[in-house]
Amino acid sequence: MSRIVYPGTFDPITNGHLDVIGRALQMFDEVVLGIAADSTKRPLFTLEERTRLVEGALPVAIAGKVRVVAFQGLLIDFVKAQGSRAILRGLRAVSDFEFEFQMALMNRKLSDQIETIFLMPKDSYTYLSSTIIKEVGRLGGNISPFVPPLVEAALRRKFAGEGEA
Ligand code: ADP
Repeated sequence: MSRIVYPGTFDPITNGHLDVIGRALQMFDEVVLGIAADSTKRPLFTLEERTRLVEGALPVAIAGKVRVVAFQGLLIDFVKAQGSRAILRGLRAVSDFEFEFQMALMNRKLSDQIETIFLMPKDSYTYLSSTIIKEVGRLGGNISPFVPPLVEAALRRKFAGEGEA
């Protein structure tokens, strides 16, 4: 079975992430969606909330082919532990390139057995990021075209100060 690991913070998952997962599943039998527990990004949602949102957001058609796993520590170790040899990353614009390039080459230094594969989302998602969604949501803008309905609802609750998403 071919399996690729898609690591990220997913704070929260957006339609851009889902688009990339759908594309990967045209080439791989299974996507292991690795949610980073110790992100330097100071996530808005807790690890449990991010996990629950990802699980709830996966369309039925692909849910059986995506395994959601929280991880900490070195990505390369997680990929090996999952029995995979490939890392999936999304590339939106040139601005993503520098960081992704560095990370891919560092990961290759750490393990030459594992390749990073980059996929581009549908063009209308190229400017979409979890950060911008949180910003627009916080200011009360319409985010429904960009995130699954349960993510939109969770963001509204979060910004209404109801704590738990
Ligand atoms: P990280 O904190 O690792 O950057 P993110 O959750 O922000 O995690 O993103 C995970 C991966 O998904 C990254 O490779 C990122 O470039 C990619 N990604 C995020 N949003 C999009 C999008 N709209 N289209 C394509 N790829 C995306």
